[in-house]
Amino acid sequence: MEVIVAKNSGLCYGVKRALRLVKETRKRKMEKVFTFGDLIHNPQVIADLEKKGIHSLNDLDLIEEGTVIIRSHGVSPRIYNILEKKQIEIVDATCPIVKKIQKLVEALAKKEEEIIIVGNKLHPEIKGLIGYSKKKGIIIETERQARNLPPQKKRSVLAQSTQDRFLFISVVAALIERTEELKVYNTICQSTQTRQKSTSELASCVDTLFIIGGKNSSNTKKLYQISKRILPHTYFIEKANHITPKMVKGAKKIGLSGGASTPPEAIQEAVAKIKSSYKHQYHSEKRVQCQN
Ligand code: SF4
Repeated sequence: MEVIVAKNSGLCYGVKRALRLVKETRKRKMEKVFTFGDLIHNPQVIADLEKKGIHSLNDLDLIEEGTVIIRSHGVSPRIYNILEKKQIEIVDATCPIVKKIQKLVEALAKKEEEIIIVGNKLHPEIKGLIGYSKKKGIIIETERQARNLPPQKKRSVLAQSTQDRFLFISVVAALIERTEELKVYNTICQSTQTRQKSTSELASCVDTLFIIGGKNSSNTKKLYQISKRILPHTYFIEKANHITPKMVKGAKKIGLSGGASTPPEAIQEAVAKIKSSYKHQYHSEKRVQCQN
């Protein structure tokens, strides 16, 4: 048996940066430190932060003092206003790539045209982005929704930074048919694109693939969907001990990949679990993209 870890997987630049800012803030501040929402979509990391006295908070009415860290997904201008009014210190860990998308939406909102945002309406990044659109933003989650839009003279379209590129392409294709002048902004971040590419390449050359990460992580879920389309034996697991003998039965090559919020330890633990459980069959481990 061979274990292959996707070349591009695990924590992205924006999440690493947010974790570093949290660490620095904890060192600097003796007072209460909160993150607005879970810092990253990974239950193990959140539990670890709780132990260090960094609490995840969803309701700003509940705090009157302390420091609030804005996570990498960013927030709408309304959230900054609330915190500023309360004179609460803000540590802004919004990923610079997300910041750039917020600025783009803000600039597009100054024009008299629709802004189509391809993303999950419940995702924090989208909730933040829509706040910059001055009510001109329309969130589209599926190609079908795009096909149901009325014809328009002008529109702009952009994507959640972690969007599945095939979905984005299909929405753009649907919009072209109903828009005279369509401006397309590919705002899917490079980290997301390389992770999706590595995972789909890996899915085409292994027998079984594990996607490791929080079930609430949007980008990890997309990696799972991408892999599952190619390889039915794809499993979405949160921890190494979710791997069962049935899942790997008969597999000669096992692939592992993780989303932008999956810590490297989670991937290493999964490799170790496969190694120890299937010692007699274990042959080698690589961290490369396999060749077809
Ligand atoms: S996935 Fe991309 S945009 Fe999102 S936090 Fe990571 S680097 Fe930033």
